[in-house]
Parts: sequence; C-alpha cells; structure tokens
Amino acid sequence: MSLLYEGKAKRIFSTDEDGVLRVEYKDEVTAGNGAKKDHIDGKGRLNNQITSIIFEYLKEHGIQSHFIEQTSETEQLVRSVEIIPLEVVVRNIAAGSITRRLGFDKGHEFETPLVEFFYKNDDLNDPLITDDHVKLLNIANEEEIAKLKKMALEINKALVEMLDSINLRLVDFKIEFGRTKDGDILLADEISPDTCRIWEKDSDTNFDKDVYREDRGSIIDTYQTFLNKLEELK
Ligand code: UDP
Repeated sequence: MSLLYEGKAKRIFSTDEDGVLRVEYKDEVTAGNGAKKDHIDGKGRLNNQITSIIFEYLKEHGIQSHFIEQTSETEQLVRSVEIIPLEVVVRNIAAGSITRRLGFDKGHEFETPLVEFFYKNDDLNDPLITDDHVKLLNIANEEEIAKLKKMALEINKALVEMLDSINLRLVDFKIEFGRTKDGDILLADEISPDTCRIWEKDSDTNFDKDVYREDRGSIIDTYQTFLNKLEELK
C-alpha cells in the first residue's frame, strides 16, 4: 500500500478499499513546531491505543469521527477525509499559550469553555485566527464555522465527563476536522496526551505532553498510566 502522507507523529497509507486509509502511529515526539524532537520507543503504540479508546467512547456518545477500527498496536483504519486546515482548541482551564497571550494565571477556570481557531500552517507558526479570517482564507463558511464550534463543545462535554469519572480534569485539547466526499464534517486526526492537557484532580500530576515539553519525566510511563486509567472505563 502506498504512503500518502507523513507527518510528525503519523504516516498515512492507502488501502485496497476505496475511501479507507491506514494510519500508523510513529515513535516520534515533537514540541514547539518541531524545535524539540525525539524518537521514543513505544510512544506510537500508546497514542494509537489511547486515540482508539477515545474515538470509540465518543462514538458511543453520538459523536462520529473518521475512526473505523484499531487493527494493530500501532495502526488503525480511518475514513478518508480532506482535513480542514484548522487546529480547533477548546479550553476549560487556562494553561499554555493563553497564559502567555492574555495573561490568565495557569489553572484559572473559565466560566464557560472557550473555542479558538489556529490556522494550520507551519511556515506561519500556526497563528490564532478569527472567524472572519477563517472565511477570508476560504477555510470554512459561516455555517461550517458554527458547526465546528458546536461539535468542539459537544466533544469537550463528552471528554470532560469521561475524564471526570476517572478523577481527571480536561484542561484543554486540540482537534482537527475533515470533510467527507459528501461534504459532511467529521472529527479526524487524533485525541491523545499529545493533543490534550489532562490534570489529576487534587494533585500536581499531569498526563500529557507537558511532561516532555518541560523535561519532567518519562513520557512512556506518563502515557501508559493514562492508558491504564482509560482502560478502567471499559
Ligand atoms: N496543541 C496541539 N498541537 C499544536 C498546538 C497545541 O495538539 O500544534 C494542543 C496542546 O497540547 C494543548 C492545546 O492544544 O492541549 C492548547 O495548546 P496551546 O495553545 O496552549 O499551545 P502550547 O502551550 O502547546 O504552545
């Protein structure tokens, strides 16, 4: 099967079946738009397993995604979609870029979840953009923008409830969406500790890529502990 695309953390291959792709999760980890980069054995397996559990959970809660099934430790089958070049970020608690950009203290709880759009463009360093920029760049129309925000908030609600039940807080996360051939919008890409901030309730422990960004320990132990907690849900 031919390689269609290789990103920082995944490879995408065609399959025999029309409209179905194979995703292989790589043992690579990057931060700061590739400024920090490492090969870490076992990391692909963890993100594939975690994303598979989360996409299954969302499906059971009425949220469709491109995910079809996990086929091996590091691989899954997904529906082919055209990725919308937006990183849609939802925040429940201030951390990361919003503390630097707007001066919120890390840990500040927002009264209502906040949705932000970043333009997926490595050359421009993925800038934060407004709804009007999204329209100006012909990324999505008004109706689609409303749909993306609605879906992002529904996904947030489902994930907050899921993590709450295993004593974790969902601080923020990034998702991507794609369009099917019929023009439907589906959740795509991955949801893993690479793309979320997850804090343990009543402790300083976190289960996400900040451990790697801030050199605070083993990313494998951290992601494995998070996967074990997710498995408690089953
Ligand atoms: N995020 C991501 N990919 C990116 C940028 C951010 O998955 O290219 C995730 C990040 O892990 C966090 C959320 O989106 O869960 C918000 O990230 P933020 O804007 O605070 O940026 P950062 O602090 O990571 O620079």
